[in-house]
Amino acid sequence: MRDQGYWLERLTAWGVLREGHFLLTSGRHSSRFLLFAPAFSLPRAATELGQAVAELFKRQDIETVVGPAMGGVILAHEVARALGVRSIFAEKDGERMAFKRGFALRAGERVLVVEDAVSTGGSVQKVLDICKAAQADVRGVGIIADRTGGKVDLGVPLKALMTLEIPSYTPDDCPLCREGRPLERPKA
Ligand SMILES: [Zn+2]
Repeated sequence: MRDQGYWLERLTAWGVLREGHFLLTSGRHSSRFLLFAPAFSLPRAATELGQAVAELFKRQDIETVVGPAMGGVILAHEVARALGVRSIFAEKDGERMAFKRGFALRAGERVLVVEDAVSTGGSVQKVLDICKAAQADVRGVGIIADRTGGKVDLGVPLKALMTLEIPSYTPDDCPLCREGRPLERPKA
């Protein structure tokens, strides 16, 4: 199993983890920014991440991997490829998530839910809710980067390739502003 240092190096090389001075959507400032789209745009990187998450759950006899759209779609596909099972995804439906496109789970189906990163666990919790509504047997949640420092409790086993703390500051209290570093809007 690869260690935290390996994944930090890979995520930096793929352009997923950036260092600088960033304006977050919350209005806070941070010296680090995490965006997984650059890795999922590289098929080999996506496959490597999917294999590593699959490895964490290979003894769970998973039948179906479920990811939330958009961030979890390619990851679910790659984890499912590594496990030799199917993948489906859930989509926003108002305030909740739903299975569309004919996707469904049966009662007792052994499911793994995956997501690129969790910070509050909100979108993963919404996927768990619809898996439970279908009476599926959720064996766990697989994450690339746990940003909660292991603090989130989703009621099922959570395993992550790495834990990552990303400190943020109010503009008044930002050490990078005091250094006069230019502020970036990373998703623009
Ligand atoms: Zn700042």
